[in-house]
Amino acid sequence: MDAIAENILKVRERMARAAAACGRDPEEITLLPISKTFPAESVSRAVAAGIRRFGENRVQEAEAKILHFRGIADLEWHLVGHLQSNKTRRAAELFDVIHSIDSVKVAARLDQAAKESGKILSVLLQVDLGSEETKFGAPPEEIRDLVDAVSGLKHLRLDGLMTIPPFFKNPEEARPYFAQLRRLGESLEAEQPGCLGRRHLSMGMSHDFEAAILEGATIIRVGTAIFGERRHA
Ligand SMILES: *Cc1c(COP(=O)(O)O)cnc(C)c1O
Repeated sequence: MDAIAENILKVRERMARAAAACGRDPEEITLLPISKTFPAESVSRAVAAGIRRFGENRVQEAEAKILHFRGIADLEWHLVGHLQSNKTRRAAELFDVIHSIDSVKVAARLDQAAKESGKILSVLLQVDLGSEETKFGAPPEEIRDLVDAVSGLKHLRLDGLMTIPPFFKNPEEARPYFAQLRRLGESLEAEQPGCLGRRHLSMGMSHDFEAAILEGATIIRVGTAIFGERRHA
């Protein structure tokens, strides 16, 4: 069997075990393979294994891959990396879901770009829960204002929250961060029912997605465990 197909099976088994451990239906958790740094050929192998949505972290790198598959396969593309305001137009044209909204400014520009592209973009708010590796995401205390601002934009549909916790060797240590994102979502929904749309929680990566599933992840973003180690650029 193809190595990528085999890795996808292994990830699905890990997902099923984590879901079973907390009484969740694995069907309600979306596996989002992150194909950044890997060529279109790797994406094709995942498509052959049944995958239809992919995540990328850079607009520029993703562009060639996304255009390559237009007219070949009907794929859904998610931007999971930081979005600069000068890339909003390309991002709106290329992607279906943006996980990394962290300012009113970027949201407003993306809304305008989505309008020009004639589409409604699904977006998640990236919450910074004290990660030192990434300086991206809005602090939790700014999220309410961001929810209010994004809710007023006609071409964005707010569908939930995303976070990248600090890296811990022991994934159990990431759990409080995942729990914090879930609780933030719950309190926003309690104050303003429906404000988070599909109420997605995009959290958990190759080494810690079980912990994220135990805390309610609905989208897990998995690169290495599917495509292999990335060569550092
Ligand atoms: C690269 C990346 C991932 C996947 O990380 P792995 O550890 O390879 O699974 C997930 N989320 C974001 C935002 C990324 O940039």
